Amino acid sequence: MITSRKMKVPFVDLTRQYAALREEIDAALQSVLKGGQFILGENVRLFEEEFSSYCGARFAVGVGSGTEALHLALLACGIGSGDEVITVPNTAVATVAAISLVGACPVFVDVDPRTFTMDPDKIEEKISPRTRAILPVHLYGQAADLGPILSLADRYSLLVIEDACQAHGATYGSKRVGTFGQVGCFSFYPTKNLGAYGDGGMVLTDNLEIAERVRLLCNYGQSDRYHAVAEGLNSRLDELQAAVLRVKLRYLDRWNALRRQWADLYSSLLEGVEVPFLASGREHIFHLYVVKSKARNRLAAYLEEQGVPALVHYPIPVHLQVAYQHLGYREGDFPVSEACAQEVLSLPIFPEMREEEVAYVADLIRKFYQEEI
Ligand SMILES: *Cc1c(COP(=O)(O)O)cnc(C)c1O
Repeated sequence: MITSRKMKVPFVDLTRQYAALREEIDAALQSVLKGGQFILGENVRLFEEEFSSYCGARFAVGVGSGTEALHLALLACGIGSGDEVITVPNTAVATVAAISLVGACPVFVDVDPRTFTMDPDKIEEKISPRTRAILPVHLYGQAADLGPILSLADRYSLLVIEDACQAHGATYGSKRVGTFGQVGCFSFYPTKNLGAYGDGGMVLTDNLEIAERVRLLCNYGQSDRYHAVAEGLNSRLDELQAAVLRVKLRYLDRWNALRRQWADLYSSLLEGVEVPFLASGREHIFHLYVVKSKARNRLAAYLEEQGVPALVHYPIPVHLQVAYQHLGYREGDFPVSEACAQEVLSLPIFPEMREEEVAYVADLIRKFYQEEI
């Protein structure tokens, strides 16, 4: 398809989704406002039930954000000072912040060059007597390679805590992510595949003790009013967000299918860039549609000029961030993650995109490469 007309394509447009669901969302919000219960009410309780049953976990606890879901999961597992947690440098900095917040030491392993998720072959050499957990990230909406990660964890008696903040509904084999390790952590940041109208998060687990511990810690450490039995914090999902999320959860599968449809269309139209690799047996839900190009910076600038914002997730791998210099890593330590930071580019993708928008972006990229040669 040749589109000669110039148009602006947003990276994400949340107003299209609200316009489509307006009546349902407004009614849900109104009912919370009229009911006068804003914290720890029915909507949170029901959303916890609905989301855990959607994912296939026994217990769920709504919390304040994805970062806090990870933070509380680590606290509830008793991980802290003197412990090491194995994760990847190619992720949102929040993954690593949660580990250092509990006083544990993040230990990095590089990612697989095709899926950009934790390379299972590089984990074992990083396991030490201090290692307590492996924390894989289901990046861009595709599951990390959980099979070998879980068997290593089993062999060395390590916990697995999944960062599923970008992967609501993604599968590995026959199960949804967030249900493989001892704990699964989700974010409902507005632009995530399941997004609130503010911050929110969820901890999933099949372990009653962990669930109860998270519930305690996220509410001041109080077992009941004014009896503090643990040193806690305040990190709760609120009723207004839960009411919105209950409406949106009913559309999640449809939205994920639309994202996959746009991803397929991109992949069939694009020329010149490396398109996302789909690992077999894993359903990618395309939180982000990420291509790779040696000419990434020039391509991004060209798209921007033509009215198409393209973003980089992530331009600086965590081991090279200023905040983590004290860990002592250097440039060259994780070559795959470092190459990703130079070469990846996220193209606009969201369920309410239009076919002509996808085609327009793909066309621009084809033109860019024709002019390059
Ligand atoms: C969004 C995100 C987080 C943090 O979630 P917040 O709700 O913004 O705190 C953590 N990890 C990954 C991989 C994310 O994409």
